Order: sequence, then structure tokens, then C-alpha cells
Amino acid sequence: MRRESIDVLVVGAGAAGLMASVHAGRAAGPDARIVAVDGARKVGMKILVAGGGRCNVTHHEVLPEDYAGSSRNAIRKVLRAYPVEAVVDFFAAEGVRLKREETGKLFPTTDRARTVLDALLNAVSSAGVELRHPIRIESIERRDDGFHVTGPGFAANAGRVVLCTGGKALPKSGSDGMGLEIVRSLGHSVTEAVHPALVPLILAEADPIRELGGIATPVRLSVRGESGRNIAEYTAPMLCTHFGISGPVVLDASRHLLSARAAGDQAEAFVRWLPEEDREGFERTMIGAPSGMTCQSMLKGRLPDRLLRALLHVSGVEPTDRVRGLTRERRRALLDVLFDHPLVVVGDRGYTFAEATAGGVPLSEIRLDSMESRVVPGLHLAGEICDVDGRVGGFNFQWAWASGWVAGRAVAATVGATA
Ligand SMILES: Cc1cc2nc3c(=O)[nH]c(=O)nc-3n(C[C@H](O)[C@H](O)[C@H](O)COP(=O)(O)OP(=O)(O)OC[C@H]3O[C@@H](n4cnc5c(N)ncnc54)[C@H](O)[C@@H]3O)c2cc1C
Repeated sequence: MRRESIDVLVVGAGAAGLMASVHAGRAAGPDARIVAVDGARKVGMKILVAGGGRCNVTHHEVLPEDYAGSSRNAIRKVLRAYPVEAVVDFFAAEGVRLKREETGKLFPTTDRARTVLDALLNAVSSAGVELRHPIRIESIERRDDGFHVTGPGFAANAGRVVLCTGGKALPKSGSDGMGLEIVRSLGHSVTEAVHPALVPLILAEADPIRELGGIATPVRLSVRGESGRNIAEYTAPMLCTHFGISGPVVLDASRHLLSARAAGDQAEAFVRWLPEEDREGFERTMIGAPSGMTCQSMLKGRLPDRLLRALLHVSGVEPTDRVRGLTRERRRALLDVLFDHPLVVVGDRGYTFAEATAGGVPLSEIRLDSMESRVVPGLHLAGEICDVDGRVGGFNFQWAWASGWVAGRAVAATVGATA
């Protein structure tokens, strides 16, 4: 097959690849040959399913502390280059107005992810970038005359490559980790641990929480290491399911639990079912409860009924037991369950149900003002392929937009442009 010649090849047209393509095309001008390829039959599937089909594009306040993976300083540098306001302006100029919800998350006013994807695809096309799919890249080799990039039915010689192949989350979208194999083959390192982030957790089969499918309630969820050290703590709704637990608080905490375990620390998760109350104050309330008050009536309204009954059962207290009649041991047992309930997490739901990937190419191997590899000159990386993952709330897209923008502008400058 004839090897075509391309100035800049963007591999992967997800959030990062589309953003990189738009800005590479705009800044490079019409003379540059810029092509974006994606292995998926349906481009942008992850954008379409994001935020329950509404696409949580970003968050009104994005800080390095909202991320895990590479060093906070390194993450900050990239985020600063293309902040939230720039993203809001970019989408506004493409006809997509964003609205801020109470949680700080930004969604399109249409509440339709399709609006976001269409705007990006139009912007790519107007920027003069040719988007082709399905073209799955299987190998990239650095040669004297540029990068030889190959896949079934595709062979190109590219001056620069922007690798935006994502991580491994939602493999049916096309993000199956192939990009990580490719960067390894080029001499990059990938973090020792690569695992699902933002993923529902599986509890032991006998755990009563598995009987509470459908119940959602706000909790504080803490992840503690074997030594008792607090690793992470989040307060948000938790959803009980037939396999264990899900919901924003679980997704956020899962990343930290799994990375501690991957590093050999048998970390555990603990729930505080009454996130707004403190244990000492609640114990005082129990001691001073009216003499006829039962344990069930004390907790009624504070917790969903089915959950309340299950928690009383776990702590060995009958719903009809009088609060004042509890022995000190029973009272403490109930307080332990309400304020520090250990969960027996036996696994996670894997990449199929994960919203992000923890691990990837360390930012220490990337020049942050251009996202160009320090290991392979001419190769740029952006998005989730990097060792950066954010919490729930639009932070992962913000990373993809920012790193994609930096990479896109930088490659444009190398093909004689105005960037
Ligand atoms: C269900 C779900 C909901 C989410 N909701 C949100 C949300 O609301 N807000 C938020 O901020 N984040 C959300 N995320 C996370 C967010 O979608 C990702 O962090 C973000 O899409 C990463 O962008 P990316 O471009 O780096 O990678 P991806 O979006 O994964 O794109 C990578 C692209 O590369 C292509 N590709 C991979 N390998 C090859 C290859 N060898 N050759 C050619 N092409 C290849 C893939 O087909 C894919 O299109 C969600 C994720 C999931 C799974």
C-alpha cells in the first residue's frame, strides 16, 4: 500500500483528539495537511454517553487537587494554559452555551451531549482537518523521515503525531488501551499500575447492602489504609445495588481504594451514614432521648426505611428497642455502624463500567508547554493516555480539552503557522 504523507496525524478522535485537531488546524492554516483518525465506527461515543447523555463538559472551578496521578504542579501547568473560561468561550463561539448546575458542573443548555459532539465535529471540519474512521492504528515507528503509522488499510508517513487514544474505560467506545501498547513500543514508560478509576465497587455476597438495591442516600465515604491512615474522603450520594455500591461518592473513592490496593496496601472503605452529624453529638442525643423513643423512631426520616432496618439489624439492635434502654455496648455498636461502617469491598466492576482510567504515561516524560514527548521528539500526547485522572464533575473532560489544546497549538507551530 502506498504510504501517504501527512504533516500532523492525530490518532484518536475523542475529546482530546478533537480539541487538538481543531486548534492544530486553525493555527496551522490551510497549507498544512492535518488528518485525524479514529478506530471506532461511531466517533465520539464517550462524549455522547457522558453525564447520562447530557455531557458534563467541565466544572466551574477546576483545581489540581481535583486530580490524581502525576504531580499536582505538572497538572496545574497544563490546566492553566487552557482554563475553564477558555473552554466556555470556545463552546460559546461554536454555538454551545453552557449552564452551571448547583453542584458546579457545567452542561450544555440543551441538556444534550449531541450538541457538544456536533460542535466539535463542525469545528474540526471548518479548521480544515480531515477526520477519517474507522481506522485503527496498530503501530507507530519513529524513522529518519518521520513517523511510520500503520493499521489495517492505512499507511502514512507523518511529520508529527498527536496520540490521543485515551485509556481503557468503556472499551466498546474504541478506548481499549492500544495506545498504551504503542507508547511503550516507542520507549515510553507507563505507570506500573493502570486500573479503572471512577468505577462501581462489588461487596461480599453476604453483605446486606446488596439487598438494598435502588436505595440512594448521601454519605461520607472514607478510604483508609491498613495502618488506619485516611487516604481519601468524599461526601455525596451513594447508590446501593445488587452487586454492591455505586453513585458519585463511590466512583470518586474507588480510584483511591484501588490504587492503594494495587500498591499492596489492603485499604478498606468506611461509610458514615449520617454525613451531617458527628458521632459525639449523636451519642449525646441518644443518651438524652425521650424515655419512650425507639431506635427506629429516632432514625426515621434520617435514613431511608429499608436501609435503617438493615443497619439496626447489622448492629444487633431491634427497631423497637428503646434508645434509653440500650446498654453502653449496644449503643456503641449502633454508633459504630452509623458512623464508621466498614464495607467488605471484594472487587470493582472493571473497565466496562468505569468512567476513567488511573495510570498512563507520566507527565514527567512530557514537555508541558507543548505536550511533546521527552522520549520521542515529534510525538505529542493528550487526554486520558496521560497519567492524570479527575474526580466526577467534568474534570476529566477539562483535562482532555486543556491538554488537547496545548498539543494542537504546539504541533501547528511546527508546520509553519501562526500559533
Ligand atoms: C460512561 C462515561 C461517562 C463519562 N462522563 C463524563 C462526564 O460527564 N464528564 C467528564 O469530564 N468526563 C466524563 N467521562 C470521562 C471522559 O469521557 C474521558 O476522560 C475523556 O473522554 C477522555 O478523553 P480522551 O480523548 O483522552 O479519550 P477517549 O475519549 O477515550 O478517546 C480516545 C479515542 O481514541 C480512539 N482510539 C483508541 N485506540 C485507537 C487506535 N489504536 N487507533 C485509532 N483510534 C484509537 C478511540 O476510538 C476513542 O475515540 C466519562 C466516561 C465514561 C466512560
